[in-house]
Amino acid sequence: MSQSVLASAAGVAVQAGRRRTFAVISHPDAGKSTMTEALALHARVIGQAGAVHGKGDRRGVVSDWMAMEQQRGISVTSAALQFSYRDTVINLLDTPGHADFSEDTYRVLTAVDSAVMLLDAAKGLEPQTLKLFEVCRQRRIPVITFINKWDRPGHDALALMDEIEQRIGLKPTPLTWPVGIAGQFHGVIDRRTGVFTRMQRSPGGADLAIEEEMSAADAAERYGADWDTASEELDLLEMTGADHDQAAFLAATSTPVLFGAAVANLGVRQLLNILVELAPAPTAQPTVAGTDQPVDGTFSGFVFKIQANMNRAHRDQVAFMRICSGRFERGMVVTHAGTGKPFATKYAQQMFGQARDTIDEAYPGDVVGLVNATALGIGDTLYVGAPVQYPPLPSFPPEHFAVVRTSDTSAFKRFRRGIEQLDGEGVVQVLRSEQRGDQAPVLAAVGPMQFEVATHRLEAEFGVRVQLDHLPYEVAARTDAAGREILKKESNVEVMTRVRDDALLAVFPHRWRMRTIAGRHPDLRLDA
Ligand code: GDP
Repeated sequence: MSQSVLASAAGVAVQAGRRRTFAVISHPDAGKSTMTEALALHARVIGQAGAVHGKGDRRGVVSDWMAMEQQRGISVTSAALQFSYRDTVINLLDTPGHADFSEDTYRVLTAVDSAVMLLDAAKGLEPQTLKLFEVCRQRRIPVITFINKWDRPGHDALALMDEIEQRIGLKPTPLTWPVGIAGQFHGVIDRRTGVFTRMQRSPGGADLAIEEEMSAADAAERYGADWDTASEELDLLEMTGADHDQAAFLAATSTPVLFGAAVANLGVRQLLNILVELAPAPTAQPTVAGTDQPVDGTFSGFVFKIQANMNRAHRDQVAFMRICSGRFERGMVVTHAGTGKPFATKYAQQMFGQARDTIDEAYPGDVVGLVNATALGIGDTLYVGAPVQYPPLPSFPPEHFAVVRTSDTSAFKRFRRGIEQLDGEGVVQVLRSEQRGDQAPVLAAVGPMQFEVATHRLEAEFGVRVQLDHLPYEVAARTDAAGREILKKESNVEVMTRVRDDALLAVFPHRWRMRTIAGRHPDLRLDA
């Protein structure tokens, strides 16, 4: 290897080491958007909309993102907010924020190195948090827990620790501990240093919190009973061995816990510090060949999200790629692993809301939007040099099914194109049913909101009004040609072909129906 190649490999390793790429997992209303803004307040936003439009103020950046959500009525952006904090580059990947689960949200979690689980102090673990956490667990993503809204009445801190341990089996290891119950928040004790930081909302609350370190003696005098309670709780935590263990955190068996209130920026600086100090930087990624691609290898990345027609000013398709190894340079010609064809990246951009910023270079952990990327699909690998291929992204079993039709025969071509587009982006899975025919494809989704997105976009972007009829199915399982023949003789089951990969899916109204049929045919292949 030449000197310069060696030097640049070292440069890549350093750059990768500076990256923290994460997503927030939470239930709607727990405060994810508020937290995003609160984080951005501390940081120098790098690829931001404000810079492009000369808006200067960071608040404008975040609200651009949200304005777009409002305008579309749903959260459709899934860009990464990139900012620098201390000497670290932080990539916060947006998970769609609506009250629904979609494959989209799950896929974002394939592109992060850690997650922040944001809990509302008054609600604890809520359904969507649990679902998202389950994905983190399966993928062994280290999780940091932030107990939010401590400025308002809520559960008892120890009870919340218990809930985390009992319900999801993750050992909570608080790094900070609140002085004052939820609703009477005075500040936190750093369990590792013992230092108490008094926290106060800045006047108006729109700025960084006012923080002041205090000695234990001063705090004890000032906060009396609240201080004593916190001290007792700390003793209890110590006795139960709830101390941070970096190996357990990285193995996703324990979770560091922090307390705060995003709305007043309380505890947010502490969260950023923990991300920098403890959250993992990008590491070598497993490939289908069974080897690990080191971060300082030649360039590689994979597409985890496709988005078309992000706004009217730019009618095109953007593929979001997470960089896994090497240095990315705009204009670089990379190889598309699926087809072996070259792909030119001259339109590589950092995307943030509606604004775009041309990006010149990026490193492992960063997200790059590739514009006009119609040749790329979800899960596709791109690389330079020696071939690399990352495993396909997990596809989640759909639980909602509906037939979609248009009565406008003159719009049929657009209808077809629209359906193909939504399938390609992974908004819905499209199934072909022999008995229903080509004019009536079946849409399958993980969450029902995906249907709303699909019909809205067919109308808004393709000018096709459609009718959607929900089908009484809730469970899908993979089968094969022999299975299809067997199932033809059974009632309350249908076999359809998934257009994306020609997989045969058997759909059932309930799990018990699937079990009954499976019990009758021991040779039947059914993979749920
Ligand atoms: P998201 O749905 O998770 O993005 O939640 P939002 O960030 O939109 O917050 C939902 C509501 O909770 C909003 O009214 C916020 O102002 C409020 N909220 C968020 N964080 C806090 C907090 O720390 N304390 C209090 N009191 N309210 C908060």
